[in-house]
Amino acid sequence: MGDKGGSVHSRIILHRRTTDGKQVRVISERRISRRVAEINESPTLMIDAKAKALKAAGENVIGFGAGEPDFPTPEHIVNAALEACRHEPYHHYTPGPGLPALRAAIADKTLRDSGLEVQPSQVIVTNGGKHALFETFLAIVDEGDEVLLPAPYWVSYPEMIRFAGGTAIELPTTEATGFRVTIEQLEAAVTDKTKAMVFVSPSNPTGSVYTPAEVKAIGEWAAERDIWVVTDEIYEHLVYGDAEFSSIPVQVPEVRDRCVVVNGVAKTYAMTGWRVGWLIAPTDVASAVTSLQSQATSNVSNVAQAAALAAVTGDLEAVEMMGRAFDRRRMTMTKLLNEIDGIVCYEPEGAFYCFPSIKGLYGRTIGGREIDSADTFAEVVLDEVKVALVPGEGFGAPGYVRLSYALGDDDLVEGITRMADLLS
Ligand code: GLU
Repeated sequence: MGDKGGSVHSRIILHRRTTDGKQVRVISERRISRRVAEINESPTLMIDAKAKALKAAGENVIGFGAGEPDFPTPEHIVNAALEACRHEPYHHYTPGPGLPALRAAIADKTLRDSGLEVQPSQVIVTNGGKHALFETFLAIVDEGDEVLLPAPYWVSYPEMIRFAGGTAIELPTTEATGFRVTIEQLEAAVTDKTKAMVFVSPSNPTGSVYTPAEVKAIGEWAAERDIWVVTDEIYEHLVYGDAEFSSIPVQVPEVRDRCVVVNGVAKTYAMTGWRVGWLIAPTDVASAVTSLQSQATSNVSNVAQAAALAAVTGDLEAVEMMGRAFDRRRMTMTKLLNEIDGIVCYEPEGAFYCFPSIKGLYGRTIGGREIDSADTFAEVVLDEVKVALVPGEGFGAPGYVRLSYALGDDDLVEGITRMADLLS
């Protein structure tokens, strides 16, 4: 956390006496603006960077940190980027909201995959899904607005909402409701300041997936109260067993006028590093975001957009293949975690994370340290057995840790076995 105390002004005039007794006028400056000083570093990225740095230094680290598929980007997508590199028009700017062909292809893909019909003009191509969310909150949230945020939530939501001037109202959920928020909770939390709610299914970090009936009920609730819905559909293709993805504006067309859909190529096509996401918004929001983006980042890398175009116009073979591997690893990880005394893991139905409770380990001394929080547990596990996990505190869920199962089967088993041995 940054310095939140003191004056609201970033520059304060002070008078100070020098050693020879003279009075001088000095400016005491808060070097970092309050808005930025209040931002916490993303724990998912921080842990991922730490694990990758340890690996690069020759340590045998198993990284369950950031959620990124362990598969390479499919070849036809890489080839499209290579071709774009050799083709001069791709060396130049695109329109701020994206290549027209890509915006049209995203509209087509959205109809194909979730059944939502949108115009290309509603699609804004962004630097990853994270940037789309950032711009969405800046575009619709004003100072004093409240945004309903079911917890556990992905680490960046509260930070983005606060940056936009809003207040995140956390709605805690547990395994008892499959980490799904209820209409009763939403109803109890709504005030006349409520501007929006965040809806994520499949969920990062819990892997919970709302049923179509639940999606419909929540959408109807939001529509009746004129509450904006920011829906993050980045894991739309990663659902397992009987779970079914369904899109809130498809289930409830009445929300469309107050709904922003966020998505991207990162998880579906193993393209985390390419940084191409998008938002789909009502036209007034899309045009506001276009202005914002035109002043902030201009267009997303033209070459990366060419790659994304090949991705969204291609088939879903890659995600089907990855999905089968993730499903297998999900079952292995859940089973192995539940075999460890003191750890209880809810079986995820989507995305690629397990989110077990480690509260049963509280009070135990491991590696010379008493486990009193998920933060301590994650530190001990990294120090003692070189396994990187993300502690639940950043997800609004103390007592839990997040493990991504988007890593190789052998590494997965090795990582959990190291933890089990440490805890035995
Ligand atoms: N969404 C991924 C995760 O939660 C990527 C890292 C991030 O941007 O937080 O691990």
